[in-house]
Parts: sequence; C-alpha cells; structure tokens
Amino acid sequence: MKNNNQKFSPTQNYQVDIRNAKQTVCPCGSGLFVQAFRIYTVPAMLSPNGQELLAHQQIFYCKECNLVVGDPEPVKQEVIGG
Ligand SMILES: [Zn+2]
Repeated sequence: MKNNNQKFSPTQNYQVDIRNAKQTVCPCGSGLFVQAFRIYTVPAMLSPNGQELLAHQQIFYCKECNLVVGDPEPVKQEVIGG
C-alpha cells in the first residue's frame, strides 16, 4: 500500500543546526535583538482590492543601540575642526 501523497507545505519550517551558523552581531557588539514590526499604509489606489489597507514588515533591532538588522548603519557625525 503506497502512501506517498503527502504534500509539503510551502510554509514548512526547516530545522537547521545553528552550531554551524554564523551569529549576527550588531556593529555595537551586542548579539541580542528584539522583534518588532513596521506598519505601512497602502493607499487605496495601490491596493489590490481598491481599499486602503495595512501591511506589516517584521524586523529585528538591536537591544542595545536600536539599530535595525538590514538597515544601513547610521552615519556617525564627525565634528570637523575643533
Ligand atoms: Zn547595537
């Protein structure tokens, strides 16, 4: 009796061994990040259903300096002269 009809969900989570992974560390030296969301309002003219809707983007930011992972590092302002 064959039972090979199981379908894999596209949202299936893969288990990986993080011991072989490289940890992301913030430029400030912190290795702890906090999960957060950015919320966007999609205007009705750009919305697929013609109505204004909210979209969200999941982000992680540094627990210590609040730098968002993936965002460019803020340019440090240097005082010229002095
Ligand atoms: Zn940081």
